[in-house]
Amino acid sequence: MTAPAYGVLREVSPIASVLLENNPSAMTLEGTNSWVLRAPGATSSVVVDPGYEDIEHLTLLAATGPVELIVLTHHHGDHAEGAPWFAGRVGAPVRAFDPALCIGAEPIAGGDVISAAGLEIEVLHTPGHTDDSVSLRIGDTVLTGDTVLGHGTTVLSDLGAYLRTLRALIELPAGTLGLPGHGLELLDLAAAARDYLAHREQRLDQVRSALSELGADATARQVVELVYADVDQSLWLPAEWSVQAQLEYLRSEAGA
Ligand SMILES: [Zn+2]
Repeated sequence: MTAPAYGVLREVSPIASVLLENNPSAMTLEGTNSWVLRAPGATSSVVVDPGYEDIEHLTLLAATGPVELIVLTHHHGDHAEGAPWFAGRVGAPVRAFDPALCIGAEPIAGGDVISAAGLEIEVLHTPGHTDDSVSLRIGDTVLTGDTVLGHGTTVLSDLGAYLRTLRALIELPAGTLGLPGHGLELLDLAAAARDYLAHREQRLDQVRSALSELGADATARQVVELVYADVDQSLWLPAEWSVQAQLEYLRSEAGA
């Protein structure tokens, strides 16, 4: 894929443009996508995820035109840290699932519909990456934050919640445009969610079969030594964390 440009607002659809923050890393991919949403002909916009308190980025974002509302997909700093500064700069309120992040407005919850910038934005509560993760649906477009990324897989705080979220996203109509917090847009979000789910279930199957070999009380380390035997040992520690989450999930399922 061609590298997207920093500092240039890129129109992705008639209602959505993106300003890519210059904060690339292993966690943020090419950087954070700050989304600017506006119905055709509307005079103000909704900005989703201003990013870090990166004054150069936020100044460019403010220059895209009047901002009516700022919405955060979740609390992580690469999405939310710059929101107070940006809100002060453009004079708009901030809404998020977590009340602590809101400025001059109420928190949002699953099922809410926000009317702003000529758009009707439906809030979907999509926990898993974080408990407070939301996705935002506008017709056949869904902003996913870090729930589904443009490429690669996302870090999880709750595997069980995440699997339920993916199963809900799979029910979206084929061809739903996914606008992620990092990476390029997804032409079929339901298909991307199906791929993510298959990947997670394949990993769970590996752990299940390791447990049948090692015994039900095996530790994450023992599972990693078996399943990741052919993988570079520098990757064993992060693998151990994700296996630990998988073990907790499987054991909670077994106990449920
Ligand atoms: Zn992020």
